Amino acid sequence: MCGIVGYVGTKDAVPIVMEGLRRLEYRGYDSAGVAVAVDGHLELRRAEGKLGNLDRVIAERPASGTLGIGHTRWATHGRPSETNAHPHLDCDGVTAVIHNGIVENYRELKDDLIARKHRFGSETDTEVIVHLVEEELRAGRDLAEAARRALRRIEGAAAVVLVSASDPKTIVAARISNAGGVIVGYGDGENFVASDMPALLEHTRTFSFLDHGEMVVVRPDLVRFMDLDGKEIVKAKTTVAFDVVSAAKGGYKHFMLKEIFEQPRAISDALLARVDRRTSRVIFDEDVKMTEADARAVTRISIVACGTSYHAGIAGKYLIERLAGIPTDVELASEYRYREPAIVPGQVTLALTQSGETVDTLAAMEEAQRRGARLVWIGNVVGSQASRMAADVIYLHAGPEIAVAASKTYTATVVCLLLYALFLAQRRGKIDEATSRGILAGAFHLPTLVDGALQSSEQVRTLAYRYYAARDFLHLGRGVNYATALEGALKLKELSYAHAEGTAGGEMKHGTNALIDENLPVIAIAPRDGVYRKMLSNIEEVRARAGIVIAVATAGDAEIRDKADEVITIPACHELVSPVVAIVPLQLFAYHVADRRGCDVDQPRNLAKTVTVE
Ligand code: GLU
Repeated sequence: MCGIVGYVGTKDAVPIVMEGLRRLEYRGYDSAGVAVAVDGHLELRRAEGKLGNLDRVIAERPASGTLGIGHTRWATHGRPSETNAHPHLDCDGVTAVIHNGIVENYRELKDDLIARKHRFGSETDTEVIVHLVEEELRAGRDLAEAARRALRRIEGAAAVVLVSASDPKTIVAARISNAGGVIVGYGDGENFVASDMPALLEHTRTFSFLDHGEMVVVRPDLVRFMDLDGKEIVKAKTTVAFDVVSAAKGGYKHFMLKEIFEQPRAISDALLARVDRRTSRVIFDEDVKMTEADARAVTRISIVACGTSYHAGIAGKYLIERLAGIPTDVELASEYRYREPAIVPGQVTLALTQSGETVDTLAAMEEAQRRGARLVWIGNVVGSQASRMAADVIYLHAGPEIAVAASKTYTATVVCLLLYALFLAQRRGKIDEATSRGILAGAFHLPTLVDGALQSSEQVRTLAYRYYAARDFLHLGRGVNYATALEGALKLKELSYAHAEGTAGGEMKHGTNALIDENLPVIAIAPRDGVYRKMLSNIEEVRARAGIVIAVATAGDAEIRDKADEVITIPACHELVSPVVAIVPLQLFAYHVADRRGCDVDQPRNLAKTVTVE
């Protein structure tokens, strides 16, 4: 999972590539590098760590040319170091590669290449690609043909971009299997490649997207697509309207905080135009093809997702089973793909991935589709691989999320799951109009409720500064807010590197109680809902063992004030929308603990936003 940018045209490629990388840095930041064609050779600039280090290297040793590629790395093979930073060169320094993914058979290929006297400059799997291309170029083939032949030999998922000083007006890019996306951006007398649209939005709004097994030859005045068998293909062009300005920090210290505060708007965008206010029926646009008969024929829903999306899925299971009465299970996509999943006739596999590019989720989708399931995707990125695979697509409309840890896409996903659950319930005749209206009233109130929850920011900051040094935290929830407990704990881990665990309240006595002592802050999510009394019992149990209780409770709840050490209030809301409201103070808590600890909130160590490697 890395960021890739390439430019060929008449302008200086280096600032264009660097700016594009800046917009993709969330995808990886172990190292960064650029290659630029200058007077018949390639100049390389690389640096370990974040893009700022590469900025300094370029300032000290400038390079410019009209063909350039750049990469931010998320290391899989070989330490994060300057020598392992992409681009990698062949033996003669003529050809350069950048790569996203893993070359699974790199060991055999490398041994073979070394036996044939190739010299390797890095420990990466990536470098074998450029030496394979070198051999094909030496045999007299042009760059596109050389790349095609070389790429057919590599196994695993990969996005690859190649340039060669021998042909300084051509970029070749390819996508093999489900590694991070490759998009082509069209300009006037110039063209671009990148792993994601935000990298190019300053320059173009018109794109094509590569699918598996496809490659593209990009020149200033020509873009040619083919498959890895060499057969020419015609690709559609898509023009997008995307607001670049909203991708800037807008006065907040971090993107994370900005995105937490953007949730009221993201939620209202997710709801917008999806409900007929007169009949209270959920109406999706033409991206959802499921008819009433299809909805009636669904026998089971299997949700596949990773990380935060998995937690949204846990809330989704609750919502779908409760409203639509369809048996639903939730599974980690990374586990699903490596077993023999049983698919029943009428099964829907519901994939949750904001980027639509998460490699494990894509693989699970593929497996489910192969076994006959209908694919539904809920996610954010228009034109992503998942959007092209699924029969039914529900977009979050949350706008770009830059911070690596998810916030607004989590709440928007839960909102879309609620809409989908209602959609199914209504099409299957499982819910009457009055009940629908009640739930939707709760949903339409969400932007205001979340705004209300955000008002606790200052109080949450005070609490975060009080407890920031704790080594461990425990997040407790029940019912639909079990998802909130898991997600609150994950947020704290990701942002602050504190150890946190999300547990279902009922599970405490089966093991977790052993952790409780006077040093353990327990964050108990206890809104006034159907399991409120049960949560109060859990709180008592924690107090009896001297643990510190920080309760997230409904505004006006006097009872809980006697039982908890600290209380953060959220506005009263319908139980089914409560996970969307209750997560907000936990996001803020994680943010403030991390900021107090001096962590890199937007780009936590060892993580990347779009996980396009296994
Ligand atoms: N496997 C390659 C490496 O470790 C590429 C990783 C990436 O996608 O950034 O260098």
